[in-house]
Amino acid sequence: MIPAFEELVPAFFPEEKCGIFGVYGQGMEAARLVHSGLWALQHRGQESSGIASSEGVGIRLYKNEGLVSRVYDEEHLSLLSGYCAIGHNRYATSGGSGKQHAQPILGPRRLIALAHNGNLPSTTKLEGFLTEQGIDLAGMNDSEMMQAALEHQLLQGDTIRAALKKLFPLFTGVFCLLLMTKDSLIAVRDAKGIRPLSLGKLNGGFVFSSETCALDTIGATYIRDVKPGEMVVVNDKGLKSYQLAPGDEKLDIFEFVYFARSDSMLLGQRVDTVRKNLGKILAQECQIKADVVIPVPDSAISASIGFAQESGIPFDHGLIKNRYIHRTFIQPAQRLREKDVNMKLNPIPEVINGKKVAIIDDSIVRGTTAKKLVERVRSAGAKEVHLLISSPPVVYPDFYGIDTPKQRDLVAFQMPVAKIAAYVGADSVHFLSYAGLIKATGLPERVFSTSCFTGEYPSDIGERMSEIQLMPEAGQAA
Ligand code: AMP
Repeated sequence: MIPAFEELVPAFFPEEKCGIFGVYGQGMEAARLVHSGLWALQHRGQESSGIASSEGVGIRLYKNEGLVSRVYDEEHLSLLSGYCAIGHNRYATSGGSGKQHAQPILGPRRLIALAHNGNLPSTTKLEGFLTEQGIDLAGMNDSEMMQAALEHQLLQGDTIRAALKKLFPLFTGVFCLLLMTKDSLIAVRDAKGIRPLSLGKLNGGFVFSSETCALDTIGATYIRDVKPGEMVVVNDKGLKSYQLAPGDEKLDIFEFVYFARSDSMLLGQRVDTVRKNLGKILAQECQIKADVVIPVPDSAISASIGFAQESGIPFDHGLIKNRYIHRTFIQPAQRLREKDVNMKLNPIPEVINGKKVAIIDDSIVRGTTAKKLVERVRSAGAKEVHLLISSPPVVYPDFYGIDTPKQRDLVAFQMPVAKIAAYVGADSVHFLSYAGLIKATGLPERVFSTSCFTGEYPSDIGERMSEIQLMPEAGQAA
């Protein structure tokens, strides 16, 4: 029997890596600027998109599933009037209704809109609070619970500042939040700053963005990052900063490896430069003999350029990407994911035929992409296929908002590195060392969360720790 559609939709759907963007500026068409910002943050989420806006009287909201280019038309944007707006692109890694979980979230009273990038691995404290207050949390995800708790406090007469001060300790996990009331814009970052959030200025107004590339897009000037543990409030009195908890910077290093766009700046470093360094150090660590270096587009292009420069092996684009197919991760079923790699990447036989090929990718997670790629490159006539990965083996799951899968699905957890080559069908597989990863960033290890490589989770994951098996040698592979 075919299940009813509702049965295919998971009841609880954690928020994952997302892009958020907000603008406050008197006289500006804030929603139009947010719309442009969301275009530039499309790589952080393709499942759904939404914008909330206000001109000081009440909050308007429009959201739907799909890419930014599909979600909005001129009519939506002209209705989203006002000088203050926040937007969200949502990313998810398995099936479910995009519309149902699209953000920003606006409660029934329309008092506060919330856009969240991150994930609360444990919501026990927050659930306790909401239950105590008599709020029914059935079917709510972590972001919806945060919104409901804030709205509740506003209804009790708290200012948004007071509400956030009170609730901040209950938000246990990873979050960059953009919030708006009818006349103010607020940005908050968890005390570890695991996901990025930058602050910029534009014509006397202020802009917040997950990544600096979107500030550039609308012509805003970068001022600084929102600090870990900081709340920034923008209203008609200007911008004010409050430290809600002592900050201890632990940016997710996977932002540098894969997730952020190469033209963004993170912790003062250009992502492209760090990725080139990853490739250079990989070339120093792994003295492979190959005729051509081929990137897996787009995320491994910078690392491949660095690798080619350092090794002297010629760089060529032997794999062409269909840019109009979403990330393979979006497909929930493994079978569909494998088909997607074929649809997404096509080899150029003239670049590959008869050659010893070094393919560079940024990471191996489940191993699906690698397996399919090696097969395709071999069928295009490669004499040898060596797979070089510009990060260490991913052996721990992510709980902080990029949602790499359960530990048992991670190929580097399932088998030793020496066996991965046979599994993916390559002549050899080499990973960057953990020390090499840190060195490439030009920053000290202590400013990073490296959880997916080391199993050290700087932001408490509570009861989720029981889902993990610790591996003593993790992070050591060269
Ligand atoms: P997999 O096929 O499961 O081994 O995934 C690895 C591929 O997905 C690589 O080509 C990466 O560029 C990409 N990737 C790595 N991490 C993620 C993530 N969290 N979300 C989406 N794609 C990812």
